Amino acid sequence: MFETLSDKLSRAMKSLRGQSRLSEKNIEEALRDVRMALLEADVHVQVAKAFLQRVKEKALGVEVLNGLNPAQQFIDVVYQELTAIMGGQAPERPLDMAAKPPTVVMMVGLQGSGKTTTCGKLAKYLKKNGHSPLLVPADVYRPAAIEQLHVVAKDAGVPSFRTDSMEPVAICKAAMQEAVLKGWDVVILDTAGRLHLDDVLMNELAAIKDACGPTEILFVADAMTGQDAVRSAGAFHEKLATTGVVLTKADGDTRGGAAFSIRHITGTAIKFVGSGERLDDFERFHPDRMAQRILG
Ligand code: GDP
Repeated sequence: MFETLSDKLSRAMKSLRGQSRLSEKNIEEALRDVRMALLEADVHVQVAKAFLQRVKEKALGVEVLNGLNPAQQFIDVVYQELTAIMGGQAPERPLDMAAKPPTVVMMVGLQGSGKTTTCGKLAKYLKKNGHSPLLVPADVYRPAAIEQLHVVAKDAGVPSFRTDSMEPVAICKAAMQEAVLKGWDVVILDTAGRLHLDDVLMNELAAIKDACGPTEILFVADAMTGQDAVRSAGAFHEKLATTGVVLTKADGDTRGGAAFSIRHITGTAIKFVGSGERLDDFERFHPDRMAQRILG
């Protein structure tokens, strides 16, 4: 996902590695390279600015300049700030669970972002971690989406909710009742998406939220759409107080601008990353590991 950034940043860092001492001029030059790398990777301008400011403040600190290996210390500062801006240390558990089951996880996002696929990926992940998830198709506008979710559920080896109702709130509530009855401890709601943000969609999602009291509302963001994904993540967060982001299609995104900017711009953390069409192409997002990978 971060190939562009990684390539450019490690080159900028390499030129520092030969230095036995870092001057303010060295640092300024390195920061210029880092800035270029960030912008080429489609990182939000505001995020690049905040990041550089923090690195500069830390790097210019006396303890860095007087250190035994100043270049390595500068790289450490960049590593720490890369980690921080992407959300810091990931919590032990990616999702909060309700005190009284079932925990409701509501998936929201634009059409085509990978929502339905991600429902299956998350269900499989949860099942592997000892949970019993139920998948719920609440996208009543696209019959194909409902069928797709049933297929995905079968693939993941988890049940999906079947009903004749075409009313999203009623479907979700009935599914929660069934979960209580059958002992499913996590209910994953696959909500409708549209090609563009609109009030009708948002109102429907708000109604489902009010009726079901989800513990987690995850925004599914297509990494390949770069800054558009960041903007949509912000808009959904504003309306629904989303609790996290799942970044999809990381396998098709070489720049990583969205991954880098989402936390800083929207205040919500990326919890998982999807990197392929298969249900196993799914993992937790760890900012520190990602920072390490970026610096190579
Ligand atoms: P929805 O409309 O948001 O429910 O999106 P879908 O789950 O139907 O996904 C749209 C398309 O993106 C499908 O062709 C998926 O196979 C594909 N897709 C979903 N996640 C990923 C991913 O992480 N990587 C890749 N390469 N494709 C994905």
